[in-house]
Amino acid sequence: MRAFNFAAGPAMLPRVVLDQVRDELLDWQGTGSSVMELSHRGKPFMALAQECEALLRELLAVPADYQVLFMQGGARGQFAAIPLNLASADATLDYLNTGMWSKLALGEARRFVARVNVAADEAASCYTTVPAPEALRLEPRAAFVHYTPNETIGGVEFPYVPDSGSVPLVADMSSTLLSRPIDVARYGLIYAGAQKNLGPAGLTLVIVREDLSGHARPGTPAVWDYQAVAAEGSMLNTPPTFAWYVATLVLRWLKAEGGLAAMGERNRAKAAALYNAIDASGFYANPVARECRSWMNVPFTLPAQQLEAHFVREARAAGLTNLEGHRSVGGMRASLYNAMPPAGVTALTEFMADFARRHG
Ligand code: PMP
Repeated sequence: MRAFNFAAGPAMLPRVVLDQVRDELLDWQGTGSSVMELSHRGKPFMALAQECEALLRELLAVPADYQVLFMQGGARGQFAAIPLNLASADATLDYLNTGMWSKLALGEARRFVARVNVAADEAASCYTTVPAPEALRLEPRAAFVHYTPNETIGGVEFPYVPDSGSVPLVADMSSTLLSRPIDVARYGLIYAGAQKNLGPAGLTLVIVREDLSGHARPGTPAVWDYQAVAAEGSMLNTPPTFAWYVATLVLRWLKAEGGLAAMGERNRAKAAALYNAIDASGFYANPVARECRSWMNVPFTLPAQQLEAHFVREARAAGLTNLEGHRSVGGMRASLYNAMPPAGVTALTEFMADFARRHG
């Protein structure tokens, strides 16, 4: 039986994608080999890589003056690569601290520049809020402004795009990219690990405005230099071909499902159904301020900690898996990425209501 898997990442993939992977695993496109066994420079894979970039550009409406890079090292690799490419050692950077991931990002940035200005800090709310737009204390001369539109652990999401003026805006979209339409032109750089909405782990997407690429500081390793990676069509080193292949199938699926507008509507409705169930229960609770509740990651607590192990065990028996919260915060968390069908959310809310009746 296939579970409804609520993991935060690596996360559930669309069933039709997995079926296709299975069907063509041993003989991909008549090559007599698996896609994993073929050269990234061979014709079939090169065509696939081109299709992947074209689909991404189409789905996200990426303007022509942006490079789309397929890299490795995860989002955390980018925590270092971004300052190395976009800032000199004596630069000041602005970081908005809204949770675990933005905090890790700014900690890494401190290793590479003279000063990181924490332009907003939501630690006092235990990361249950985002700063008001007018509360940002931005440095006019910062090399860039970094923020995390969706905090995967806290379940906190920006309901607005910060206005950084002429300073490039950098966004860690690991847990929100492709979940709805965005205006790429608002950003200097967008990056995301693939393992939530795009495909398997191992691939990292970077979308960078051309004028910001090509300025890596001396000493930057070539695999982290955006211009060097772009010049080689993201094949400076051997790319994670299997992950890239699955990502292409996921993008085909996304397009067939109606693209990002349709996906955004579906995701909004899925999240609303779960938050409504939590709020109406008198049993479960979500700590995040209503206006910045995440559509993708929904943390919730039970009235007593000793119920958590029961909840997880019974949920698993009902085919609802990986609902444990992040180890740093505890509680429960349901991640509702694109591949989670509405029926999965219905099954979860029905299970939650039943569990509350029996344990309330
Ligand atoms: N940023 C965010 C928002 C994330 O959710 C994660 C992973 N969960 C990371 C960064 C780190 O990603 P990676 O493991 O790909 O380095």
